[in-house]
Amino acid sequence: MTAPGSPTPTAAAIAAEVRAGARSARATVDAHLGAIDAAEATIHAFNLVLADSARAAADAIDARVAAGEDPGPLAGVPIALKDNLCTRGVPTTCSSRILEGWRPPYDATVVTRLATAGAVVIGKTNLDEFAMGSSTENSAFGPTRNPRDPERVPGGSSGGSAAAVAAGFAPLALGSDTGGSIRQPAALCGVVGVKPTYGLVSRYGLVAFASSLDQIGPFAGTVGDAALLLEVIAGHDPLDSTSIDQPVPSYTEAVGAGVDGLRVGIVSELMGEGIAPDVRARVEAAAEALAAAGAEVGEASVPAATFGLSAYYLIAPAEASSNLARYDGVRYGLRVDGATTSEMMEASRSAGFGAEVKRRIMLGTYALSAGYYDAFYGKALKVRTLIIADFAAAYERFDVLLSPTTPTTAFRFGEKADDPLAMYLSDVCTIPTNLAGQPAMSVPFGSGADGMPVGVQILAPTLGEVPMLRAAGVLEEAAK
Ligand code: GLN
Repeated sequence: MTAPGSPTPTAAAIAAEVRAGARSARATVDAHLGAIDAAEATIHAFNLVLADSARAAADAIDARVAAGEDPGPLAGVPIALKDNLCTRGVPTTCSSRILEGWRPPYDATVVTRLATAGAVVIGKTNLDEFAMGSSTENSAFGPTRNPRDPERVPGGSSGGSAAAVAAGFAPLALGSDTGGSIRQPAALCGVVGVKPTYGLVSRYGLVAFASSLDQIGPFAGTVGDAALLLEVIAGHDPLDSTSIDQPVPSYTEAVGAGVDGLRVGIVSELMGEGIAPDVRARVEAAAEALAAAGAEVGEASVPAATFGLSAYYLIAPAEASSNLARYDGVRYGLRVDGATTSEMMEASRSAGFGAEVKRRIMLGTYALSAGYYDAFYGKALKVRTLIIADFAAAYERFDVLLSPTTPTTAFRFGEKADDPLAMYLSDVCTIPTNLAGQPAMSVPFGSGADGMPVGVQILAPTLGEVPMLRAAGVLEEAAK
């Protein structure tokens, strides 16, 4: 079993063989470190490769297997972590200068769960600074390149995680998705990316961008591997007050369950103007594949989805302006001295934040300011309520919805970097899901006119991961 487009075996195959004593975790980690050595200079997926600790963790897994123990469902599987997930004692930068030198005193809950499941963290991946962006060009440490074509962006903000999986540096990665940051880079790099239901995966230890939208989720080379990883990280966590307290169903079983009788709606508002014809054609082909496998396919309407982008670019910056107030030169990372405390803070924030982060803080502060609050932030919240209502109406008729993940395939470096609006439009298809708090995922489904991968987005209602993964499993088979 080999993940498409990647030289590595699937996570499921690695874990099964390691648990059975048929494969060495250490040799598996060494092989992936070798792949990183060979291509990382070009790709720059990582802010930090954790070669020594990964080798030590792999040796510990092998020792446990030799002692007759079962290290867990991800035994010996290398995984890359987006560098906004806290790792105890290990630099966590959010690809920002402001966190220079900071080492978190604790692990994110997902990191703890990965260790308990036997996974081996192989490195921390590059991102747009504080997860603000769609191309990874906003990283303070330089961009990541798309392994399918190094002249093009990998998408963002979790571009490093998507590229790590696409390049075969690790079979699995974690990212965060506030407006599309898992699904969009997954689509552009040709891998699977899942944004779970808000509250399904604990965010304890995820550096906050926009707290009412942020969600951690998997990247993988196959749908089955994404389901396996989701099973490990999902579930209640008392350390996150937004965490859902419900049992987690089997996601891996859903992948092979087929779509017989599943009602699938194509979102007409996300198929029109602005969507490249070659991308639209792949979504239509995906709908046909689902129909051929027994699904009932129809046309769905989510009218307020067209206002998603406008609402998001008020709500997300508003929350970011508040969340990022904590970087004051006192508590974390960078400090630039000044004559007074406020001059020190101003100098630290001026030097520590990049242009896009500053833009978001100013947009958000403006939207929340007295006199503008009702007109901007308040209005955006009303739009959010409309979007939730429109999705609810669509899910009365359909079990899952279908759309493009992105309007185009991967663009070239610099193409949108100077035009924030063009960049923001990359997320037009993914943002409505975040506003509704619902799950959605991107599955690779062929390529566009330029030969670059196209991702099809499957959207589902709250806690609809099972039907979503059923559809994804069928699309993956059909894409072969
Ligand atoms: N690209 C979007 C933004 O810049 C979404 C980012 C994300 O999901 N973290 O805000």
